[in-house]
Amino acid sequence: MPMSYLLRDDLKDNHTFLDKALADISTIITILDISGKVIFVNKVVNGIDIKKFIGSSIYDHFPCNTTQKVKSCIQEVCATNQKVDFEDVFIDCKDRKHFYNHSFTPIFTDNILTGVTIVSTEITKLKRLETELLRAQDISALTLDSLSIGIWDYDLLSGVITWDDMTYNILGWTRDAFDKSFETFLTKIIHPDDQEAFELGNVYARKNGVEEIRELRFIHGKEGRERWLRIKSKHFRNDDGVVVRLCGICWDATEIIEQEGAKKESLELLRQNDELKEFAYLASHDLKAPLRTLRSFSDLLSRQYEGQLDEKATKYLKFISEAAEEMDTQIKELLTYSLVGQHKDKELVDCNLVVNKIISKLSFAIETSGCEVVVEQLPSVVAHVTDISLLFQNLISNAIKFHNPDRKPTVNISAKAIGETWQFEIKDNGIGIEEKHQKKIFTIFERLHSKEEFEGTGIGLAHCRKIVELHKGKIWVKSIFGVGSTFLFTIGREQRKP
Ligand code: ADP
Repeated sequence: MPMSYLLRDDLKDNHTFLDKALADISTIITILDISGKVIFVNKVVNGIDIKKFIGSSIYDHFPCNTTQKVKSCIQEVCATNQKVDFEDVFIDCKDRKHFYNHSFTPIFTDNILTGVTIVSTEITKLKRLETELLRAQDISALTLDSLSIGIWDYDLLSGVITWDDMTYNILGWTRDAFDKSFETFLTKIIHPDDQEAFELGNVYARKNGVEEIRELRFIHGKEGRERWLRIKSKHFRNDDGVVVRLCGICWDATEIIEQEGAKKESLELLRQNDELKEFAYLASHDLKAPLRTLRSFSDLLSRQYEGQLDEKATKYLKFISEAAEEMDTQIKELLTYSLVGQHKDKELVDCNLVVNKIISKLSFAIETSGCEVVVEQLPSVVAHVTDISLLFQNLISNAIKFHNPDRKPTVNISAKAIGETWQFEIKDNGIGIEEKHQKKIFTIFERLHSKEEFEGTGIGLAHCRKIVELHKGKIWVKSIFGVGSTFLFTIGREQRKP
């Protein structure tokens, strides 16, 4: 009779040795005949009498619901001749839970099913680990979810990128639309200006396995607008040390990066302002003395040599004193410009009162030009009152100054709420501004006309821009050359003093 196991001859009758060996292994092996009676067991669990176990029906030893399960497993094994597994929990006499995996295997003798082997392995430790793992997974999923952090995985061998739901959400893509390829991620999702840097970083990470936080812009799948993504990655190598997988987390960093940018910008603005103040101080003090000398000597020259100078010399002298005068005005303007934002305390300013005051201040210009000024109901804003007055004054006086002599000038002042801001409009039917000049007019000393055409220094709109930016708003112009201009600016809708 062929045997599929081997045993040393001298041990064949040594049952004590075999008993001990079989009883000490942690797995329980039970062999049943075709009717379900136990014909062999290497050991039994606590509380069962092994002698009574042999020859008894296997169904007599399990609680009711387990018996049912065991029965169906045995039936399945007999019907399919295939191995069947099932997990069961057993509570011992000390009320401790033990988890078992029962593996049912058919026994064939001469191709006839003659019995079933049940291999029962305790998997309690494994179960506990599994539960802990699931709990840890739940906690990390909850944390990632509440922080809106997505998880991604990039298998470098297959080239497949896998995202969790949050990553799809962050990027604004749907599972159907994303083909999981690096190519699509690079060319359709990453912002064109960041693609090259991302690819280079990726090549470097594959080669050297760096772990780092990277920032890149992407195009949001639904909104179609540019947003910022921060990615932290981890690499995995194969046995040969080659990086085969990159995975990590990502989150939308748009707000934070914009805030950091705004902070940098406002620090830069403050720095520039300090520099400007210093320059203005030097200009007003150091340049004023030589300027005074220039003016008084040119005055002296024209007075003392009156009638002795020829026409050319008189003309040149006139140019010198006019230039000196202009420079004096510009220095004064520069000093005022540098002082914008000096008034530290903001207050609730009623724009109706501010604008009415300005209109009465400008009454001469309004009457002589025949301008009709219409002021709609304006809101109150939290602002520096002096700065806000200067802002309205510059815009309204420009609207009157740059009127078209061929028609009756009109100026309309209004405001409307847009989201969190008030948007003000100062609209005129004046000469208008060509599109190519519409940005540069907000730059200091930038003018489009000669002094002869229109009086001015070219600092008014630079002033306006500085005031609006100090109030965290924006200013711009919409204009059609020859038809008129509308200057628009925004200011936050906060109602209380900060
Ligand atoms: P200034 O008025 O002293 O020239 P500004 O800085 O106020 O300086 O304006 C810059 C330039 O913008 C002006 O010289 C003018 O050409 C143009 N501009 C400003 N406001 C208007 C307006 N309402 N209509 C047409 N052009 C304007």
